[in-house]
Amino acid sequence: MAESVRSVALLGATGSIGTQTLDVLRRSPHQFKLVALSGGTRTQELVAIAREFNVPLVGVLTDADAKVVATELPGVNVVVGDAGLDVLARSADVVVNAVVGFAGLTATLAALDAGKRLALANKESLVAAAPLVDQVRAQRSTDLVPIDSEHCAIHQCLAGADATAGYRSVKRLLLTASGGPFRTKSAAELRHVTKADALQHPTWAMGPKITIDSSTLMNKGLEVLEAAALFGIGVDRIDVVVHPQSIVHSMVEYVDGSTLAQLSHPDMRLPIAYCLGLPERLDQSWGAISFTDALTLTFEPPNREAFPALDLAYEAGRLGGAAPAWLSAANEVAVEAFLQDQIAWSDIVPVVARTLDVFDGEPLTTVEELRVHDQNSRRIAAKIVAEL
Ligand code: NAD
Ligand code: MG
Repeated sequence: MAESVRSVALLGATGSIGTQTLDVLRRSPHQFKLVALSGGTRTQELVAIAREFNVPLVGVLTDADAKVVATELPGVNVVVGDAGLDVLARSADVVVNAVVGFAGLTATLAALDAGKRLALANKESLVAAAPLVDQVRAQRSTDLVPIDSEHCAIHQCLAGADATAGYRSVKRLLLTASGGPFRTKSAAELRHVTKADALQHPTWAMGPKITIDSSTLMNKGLEVLEAAALFGIGVDRIDVVVHPQSIVHSMVEYVDGSTLAQLSHPDMRLPIAYCLGLPERLDQSWGAISFTDALTLTFEPPNREAFPALDLAYEAGRLGGAAPAWLSAANEVAVEAFLQDQIAWSDIVPVVARTLDVFDGEPLTTVEELRVHDQNSRRIAAKIVAEL
């Protein structure tokens, strides 16, 4: 019997996760067909990818980029902006959302609405839109699988556990964190770190936004909220443990005392391949451990005083509603301001905290409300940045 071919839409194709997804697709040409692509910048790279994979549908951010693509690739269908992302996210069996930031929202909601498999790297959309995703899930079954390595590990460790009744057999989820480049620094030392220091991740090579988030531990805070949204488990049943080797990608502790973990050397192509192949495992190996060389795994608690982003995220998770959307939006503004040399590294999390202080608990039940929350949080965060 011929293998059935799954069609794939890859949003954010030119980024770190995007290009690693292409690696996975190149290794399994008979199982997947790339049918839609998008990129925010680097249009020439996008054109090259579209050529290599013979992709009939391409999304870009601006009309100017659309012209470039149309000229370079006659016959290819070009779509633009948010409306374009909506079209792309409904066009394939599997939608890989590797856009960075809140800009990934449209694709996340469209893929779920269209009943496609959503292979989600874009954690910001799920963190912000958790109540809306819950609404969709209450109406019908969805196919949402996480590319984020910790959540992919938990997804694997939860196999066989009963999701109904809120995973009663699960005591807690344990998200591992590398600790980032500043793991061993005190709060006083952290006042003087530079952009170059912050962009230097010890175990992962990633896009700039998530690399900065990893240095503040906001990435882990967002991941706590992401795990709560994905698995329907409250933030107080989710713990963070620092594991500098990034080999144990996360763990699940069951009520009988047993803890399951997923191990591999850090390589995002493994979780990407997992999400594409499910329920099968693809026959391509990434990050397997030999165990013939000595291997030391260490674990320690996070330094919550030096890295207040973590507790801030728990606070937003307990508030619920639009609080996580505010946290994530303010963080995007603060990280961008830091990358533009407008604020110091040590200002990033205080900007988010001060923005969250203004959050008034207004409800979040529609996409329109979510966009207003996002805008309000950004406006307040930008004002705080300007006053620094
Ligand atoms: P990146 O910056 O390398 O790539 C982002 C992609 O999104 C690019 O293709 C860019 O052109 C596109 N893009 C940017 N702004 C856009 C916009 N406004 N509209 C449409 N497209 C836009 O980022 P990345 O590191 O690949 O991360 C992507 C997502 O995956 C993030 O949400 C990140 O948190 C998550 N993630 C990344 C990693 C990793 O190893 N890189 C690991 C786990 C999770
Ligand atoms: Mg992660």
